[in-house]
Parts: sequence; C-alpha cells; structure tokens
Amino acid sequence: MGLVMIRCPRTGQEIPTGIEMEREQFGSAPVFFARVDCPVCGRQHEWFAGDAWLCESTAVREADAALL
Ligand SMILES: [Zn+2]
Repeated sequence: MGLVMIRCPRTGQEIPTGIEMEREQFGSAPVFFARVDCPVCGRQHEWFAGDAWLCESTAVREADAALL
C-alpha cells in the first residue's frame, strides 16, 4: 500500500493527498480528479492523477508503526 502524493504548486513541496492505493490499483486507475487541503500552504489544491505519484517509502510505514 502506498500513499498518493502530489507537489504543492505554490511551494513545490511534496504533500500527501491522504489517499492510499496499491501500486497495481494506482497504475490501472482511470484518470481521476480530486482536491486536497494542503498542509504546507493551507490552501486547497485541485489535482489530476497525472500529477500524482505513489509513495511507498519506509518513512510512511514507520509513521504508521509509531501509531500502533
Ligand atoms: Zn500548497
């Protein structure tokens, strides 16, 4: 499972959209469109699947583990 990430258009920072997907699911998903409340600049960004990528870093897993 990975976290769908986008880049904040105002600050250029990578931000999580809060959506989690399997890699196979992300690769085969139809073009979709969503909004995210940006934790970096505080604005709402609209984004398309083409702008997003899947983050499966260990940092995310460690954060999940820390919650258990
Ligand atoms: Zn932003």
